[in-house]
Amino acid sequence: VISAAFDYVRAESLEAALGALELEDAKAIAGGHSLIPMMKLRFARPSRVVDITTLGFRGVRDDGAISIGALTTYDELIRQRRVRIPDVLRECAEAVGDLQVRNAGTIGGGLAHADPSSDVAAGALALGAVLHVASASGERVVNAEEFFLGPFSTLLDAQELLTEIELPSPPPGSGSAYVAVEDPASGYPLAGAAVVAQTDGERLTYCAVGLTGITGSPIRARVVEAALLEANAGDRVEAIRGSLPEVELAVDVEDGAYKRHVACVVVGRALDRALARSEVSS
Ligand SMILES: Cc1cc2nc3c(=O)[nH]c(=O)nc-3n(C[C@H](O)[C@H](O)[C@H](O)COP(=O)(O)OP(=O)(O)OC[C@H]3O[C@@H](n4cnc5c(N)ncnc54)[C@H](O)[C@@H]3O)c2cc1C
Repeated sequence: VISAAFDYVRAESLEAALGALELEDAKAIAGGHSLIPMMKLRFARPSRVVDITTLGFRGVRDDGAISIGALTTYDELIRQRRVRIPDVLRECAEAVGDLQVRNAGTIGGGLAHADPSSDVAAGALALGAVLHVASASGERVVNAEEFFLGPFSTLLDAQELLTEIELPSPPPGSGSAYVAVEDPASGYPLAGAAVVAQTDGERLTYCAVGLTGITGSPIRARVVEAALLEANAGDRVEAIRGSLPEVELAVDVEDGAYKRHVACVVVGRALDRALARSEVSS
């Protein structure tokens, strides 16, 4: 399978990349692990491909809040030791594809591509990530919760680049985890849940849930969070199960009852694992 013809531009600076993206149907390429397959299938036919891998927004730093360069590969994120990233995000990155995919695929590409089953999107949502976006006219920030508009669709304009993913600090003492049930054929999650949580021993005192593989685009599941915050410790599974019918499934889901069942299982498991990592709040 061969893609349609295109021009290749290797950007040497952010300004040059943004300038090259001014062409209406130009597309940035980072790891290429989603864009190239889309081009080969001719779902994407950019006349210009702008290589942004030369740009500097790569790596992880902690200036009070953790910032991850959009070009950081999943593997770099997992292996770096300088900054302690939340368990949930590390587990999302570890769940992506195989070593080859994690070696080339970038966290920014994973978010910008907006696959409805993106692993890393669930973590960004549960952590309330703030996305830094650059364009020729300047910079703006977008909350992860507002970023995903639908399957393969985001708030990003074609001429914009995602440069950085900023993670607000989770509540002190909270724990986090990501659990997914993978499609055995593709390795993508059939359903994945990213949870950040804390308890006072009986009720949850904090709960954030990001879901992927279930809805038209990854979501912050506020209805599930609200139900969990009201539930006693013994009633949490019922709270999850009871709230999931309010979550609108992707239009191509064939067996809604099964999808909601898997969603309930992954949220429950991720919550248990997050709480096992948390300190009981007073
Ligand atoms: C075999 C295989 C298995 C996979 N399994 C999984 C899986 O289990 N879970 C999962 O979540 N993903 C999986 N993936 C997808 C992989 O995670 C994505 O390819 C990757 O995250 C996309 O990042 P990339 O750097 O390759 O982006 P690219 O393919 O380079 O780009 C993808 C899209 O994002 C845009 N883009 C990239 N970077 C930026 C940026 N900084 N700013 C603005 N737009 C940008 C591009 O223009 C393009 O439209 C798999 C891919 C393959 C090939």
